[in-house]
Amino acid sequence: MILDIVKLGEESLREKSVAVEEVNDEIKQLANDMFETMIEADGVGLAAPQIGKNIRMFVIIADDDIRRVFINPQIIKTSEEVGPYDEGCLSIPQVYESIIRPLKVTVQALNENGKPFTLDADGLLARVIQHEYDHLEGIVFIDRGDKAFAEKTEQAFQKRAERAAKKAQEKAAKKARLNAKLAAKEAKKNK
Ligand SMILES: [Zn+2]
Repeated sequence: MILDIVKLGEESLREKSVAVEEVNDEIKQLANDMFETMIEADGVGLAAPQIGKNIRMFVIIADDDIRRVFINPQIIKTSEEVGPYDEGCLSIPQVYESIIRPLKVTVQALNENGKPFTLDADGLLARVIQHEYDHLEGIVFIDRGDKAFAEKTEQAFQKRAERAAKKAQEKAAKKARLNAKLAAKEAKKNK
């Protein structure tokens, strides 16, 4: 099932996520839905807060084409060597910025079967792990770039979210008015 992707300006993206208590069928299904959603949106990684669930879990398909699920991940080592890379995010569409991060990481996590694993990652995989891990902490990539650009971008998306919420509200009100009208008509008819 393809899920809605939360955009910057919505709350779940700024909340710190809680640990997954049990890796059960529901979590496995969620991982599958997250892969489906991510592939459809042409992304390489997707974290649970991005689909409105504040639990510590993300999925990645990097350039090696392997489907990887990370549940309750911990980054236990990062390289001293850092480098830039143009990052983007499915929650912040059309925005790209060169971000400096460690080039290698070692991560410990559980997979979709609840089995613990340790992974030494470099290249794109190391990059995406750090980007997705940040989402679990309520951090987005622009927070790690130019401060003025981050503020401007956040404000623009905030406004967009407010407009979308207002539109949804108006639509609901219109529907309620229409339903009331129909009900009144029906009542008249049945008199
Ligand atoms: Zn992201």
